[in-house]
Amino acid sequence: MLISTIIGLFIFNLTLSNWIEEKIEAGLANEITRITHKLQASDLPFNDLEKLDIYIKTDIELSRQNHITLVAFDGTVLADSDISLAEVMDIENHLNRKEIVDAKNNGHGTTTRFSTSRFKDLLYSANAFSYKGENYILRVATPLTRIESMADELMAILALLMTISLGLVTASTLLSSKLMNQQVQHEKDQQESLIEQRTLEIELLRRLTNMLAACNSIDEAQMIVEDIIPRILGDVNGVVSLIRSSRNQLLVKLDWGGAWPGSKTYAPEECWALRKGKFHLANDKYTTLPCSHMAEVQTDSPEASQTLCIPLVAHGNTIGMMHLFSGDKELTDETQQLAFTVAEHLGLALANLNIQEKLREQAISDPLTGLYNRRYYEETINQELMRAKRNKQELSLLMLDLDHFKLFNDNYGHDAGDYVLKTIGSLLIESMRGEDTICRLGGEEFIIILPETGIEAARQVANGLCKSINQLHLAMKDLSLGKLSVSIGISTYPINGMQKDELTKLSDIALYEAKERGRNQSCHYSDLIIMGDELDLETVTPTEKLITKNDNDLETHVIDI
Ligand code: GH3
Ligand code: MG
Ligand code: MG
Repeated sequence: MLISTIIGLFIFNLTLSNWIEEKIEAGLANEITRITHKLQASDLPFNDLEKLDIYIKTDIELSRQNHITLVAFDGTVLADSDISLAEVMDIENHLNRKEIVDAKNNGHGTTTRFSTSRFKDLLYSANAFSYKGENYILRVATPLTRIESMADELMAILALLMTISLGLVTASTLLSSKLMNQQVQHEKDQQESLIEQRTLEIELLRRLTNMLAACNSIDEAQMIVEDIIPRILGDVNGVVSLIRSSRNQLLVKLDWGGAWPGSKTYAPEECWALRKGKFHLANDKYTTLPCSHMAEVQTDSPEASQTLCIPLVAHGNTIGMMHLFSGDKELTDETQQLAFTVAEHLGLALANLNIQEKLREQAISDPLTGLYNRRYYEETINQELMRAKRNKQELSLLMLDLDHFKLFNDNYGHDAGDYVLKTIGSLLIESMRGEDTICRLGGEEFIIILPETGIEAARQVANGLCKSINQLHLAMKDLSLGKLSVSIGISTYPINGMQKDELTKLSDIALYEAKERGRNQSCHYSDLIIMGDELDLETVTPTEKLITKNDNDLETHVIDI
């Protein structure tokens, strides 16, 4: 660009110089015509060189730089504005000058030449004219430096203008390229942050699914959704309600993003989405139509707040609903799209969790009484013992065995026996605290874990149970089943033992002693130690283990035989 500018300027300079030269030539021609007319009008005798000299030097108004010469047709110089008359007289014949020759021959001549009188390059222009019957030549010369300086001045102005415009073009190019770069960078940043956001959402959805697949209960699922879903959907209040197996009610089971303002239990008819079998967005651009389960909700800006209900579908069945409530603002399209994806993941995960929970429930519960089974006892006693150890608390075990239950079965039949087992199960659930764990070990044997319970408290609970069971009025189909009693063996951590098997066995030994002492009563293993009855017990429980007592530290050991 710079090179082409320089070449352009050079060519322009040449053209400009030529143009200026032409203009000056034209100016000189005008000047010659003016002077010629003046001379012709002066009526001067051209043979009187002195007068002519004075006239030329004084009366002809010349510009400071111009120089005129009057030459006769034979080449003799008659007058000159620059030199004295004496010098005029001595000056050589001018017929060797090109402009004079041309003017003589053609009426006009022009040339550029170094002037020996002015010591500079001059532009000479000469015209032939007639005066009083004679032909003369009038020559006007002007310095070429003038042309050059004019050209230089114009070039300087032009160069300045070009520099300014070049500067402006460069600046605007740089500015627009900078703006373009900024715009490109901005769009790139936006794309990158969008990709980052999408990657994060995918990762969060993956984690949500994985974590839900790994959880065992709805309580664990609650912890997961509370933690992960707000990271996906942002600051939006939401819940999941599940359809009860009776299918006549939905219960809110999971929630996130604050307290749920809608109903926590509602009938299927109260949700438009459930009725349509398709999502329902209340208060969109088409309708307001809120679901009845959100009827009570009050907001500061009801015109903006929206509720989105999405059915949770798994294996072709609707298992529940996901509800989102936007509060005082609208749900963005992006949030809605993400909500559909979250709902898909939740539907499958919750259906699996439901199946898993049912299987787990089956695995740990006794179907006849609804109590926990032996498997659950084995799992729980270890956890409870660890907790007791950690918190430096006592823990007691009650082992129950119905008295003469075989006889009862024989008398009233197996169905009556089952009925009684169920009744005892219900009585135990009603009588015990929420933190106690009641398990049916098998047959007519039960075990109860009593956390934070020492010897005396356990004894009181056991006696209370003996009394309650003995006071039960058992009747089936209006047939009185008489009375039943229970014997209970008790052991307490850590005084009787530290380990699960040890404590279980000791409560079994105490139970045996309660039976021995006449049934319908409880017996704590500590009572046996005080009474020194443990050796007798060895003989009556020959099944697995021998119990010995360390007299120094009251620690009990169970030794396999
Ligand atoms: P004891 O006072 O010594 O415990 O006498 P018991 O008759 O209760 O002793 P035993 O362990 O010999 O009898 C238990 C009986 O419980 C045997 C069985 O008939 C009955 N039984 C065990 N499981 C069930 C059950 O699921 N349903 C019914 N109906 N009876 C059961
Ligand atoms: Mg038994
Ligand atoms: Mg029994």
